[in-house]
Amino acid sequence: MSNASIVTIGNELLNGHTTDTNAAYICQQLLSVGIPVVSVYTVGDDISQIVRALKRAAEDADIIITTGGLGPTDDDLTRRAFAEFLGVELKTDSQLLETIRQFFAKRGLPMPERNAIQAHIPDGAEPIENPLGTAPGIYAKVQNKVLFALPGVPFEMNQMFEASVLPHIQKQGGDKYVIIRKVRCFGAGESVIAEKLGNLMARERNPLINSTVNSGIITLHVVSAGPNKEQAGDLAQKDVEYLHSLLGDLVFGVDDQTLPEVVGQLLTAQKKTVATAESCTGGLVAKLLTDIPGSSAYFTHGWITYSNKAKVEQLGVPQQFIDQYGAVSKQVCSAMAKSAQQKAQTDFAIAITGIAGPAGGSDQKPVGLVFISVCDSKNCRTERFIFPQDRVMIRLRSALTALNMLRLALKSDAG
Ligand code: AMP
Ligand code: MG
Repeated sequence: MSNASIVTIGNELLNGHTTDTNAAYICQQLLSVGIPVVSVYTVGDDISQIVRALKRAAEDADIIITTGGLGPTDDDLTRRAFAEFLGVELKTDSQLLETIRQFFAKRGLPMPERNAIQAHIPDGAEPIENPLGTAPGIYAKVQNKVLFALPGVPFEMNQMFEASVLPHIQKQGGDKYVIIRKVRCFGAGESVIAEKLGNLMARERNPLINSTVNSGIITLHVVSAGPNKEQAGDLAQKDVEYLHSLLGDLVFGVDDQTLPEVVGQLLTAQKKTVATAESCTGGLVAKLLTDIPGSSAYFTHGWITYSNKAKVEQLGVPQQFIDQYGAVSKQVCSAMAKSAQQKAQTDFAIAITGIAGPAGGSDQKPVGLVFISVCDSKNCRTERFIFPQDRVMIRLRSALTALNMLRLALKSDAG
């Protein structure tokens, strides 16, 4: 079975300015076709360092993939390092030069002379087309190793990886196919979910189930191996269905589905509408809902009533509620939601009021205390939460929890 080593290149990766997402992306992609990545080297824009990393990568693995350093500036040294590693000269590929010229011509611009350097490629190597930018990739084969150099810009790199690198690697064929499916859960902690799974997470099991958590979203990764795509896929699908039956409503989606997407699909399918009245989340729920194309079918109004005055004037929250219970209270939250639902004449309204911090907390009302209401014209459900971590996380958790409450309300309506 083949394996791979990755070399990511760029000073920005070593000074903490840029997080190396390229390596993570390539690792995932390769694993999904049964090729494990055995090492990742990160080096700066320095020829000798790049060559050294290439040598190490070639000792480790049969497939070597680099990203970065293919631009037109003086710090873009991957072409020269590749040539040195291969022991050949750089030559100008005239067809490539023309492609780069055309890239500029299409935008009505002359090609800066500096970009001509991007048509240099090591003798005997082949260019990899980059439809999204001027930096072509490089493909070379030496003895039994294959090398791919890709640009650093993730958007360009991903496209070229999927269009050119992956098909090439797959043609070489591994003896094992790996499919990774995801089951996405919300509304319980990682340990509660692990408890429900029992011994499904045993390390020797196939599919292997791994769990990760991010802003309250628990993702179960089902890593299934089989002799071919179909068998690996069937095995993974069985687990996805089984996890669904075990976890019930805790599961909101699969693979890359997001909570806003799923809520949008439920609203659309049921022809229902929603409005929002937000305080501590400052419009985040409205933002998440309207991130989804086509959200005008179900999202009508969003109020950001950050001050008490706005809550009273815009939503008619009784001043007495604010005086008696405080702006962060069950009473004010449900009044915000009921009023939003009536004013917008929607099927549902969401309201959120809380203390995102870092200041403003007290013993009775600590930072992280958030009330969330989801109301329709008849029923209003308000819940109290204390979310951990900092302002960013408290706001995000609040917004996602509100969307999840709406999802559950829509499911009980449908059911
Ligand atoms: P380059 O191809 O070296 O000119 O890189 C262009 C840009 O891509 C850099 O300025 C970074 O913002 C980004 N980039 C480069 N390498 C990586 C990486 N490994 N992960 C994420 N972004 C990267
Ligand atoms: Mg660079």
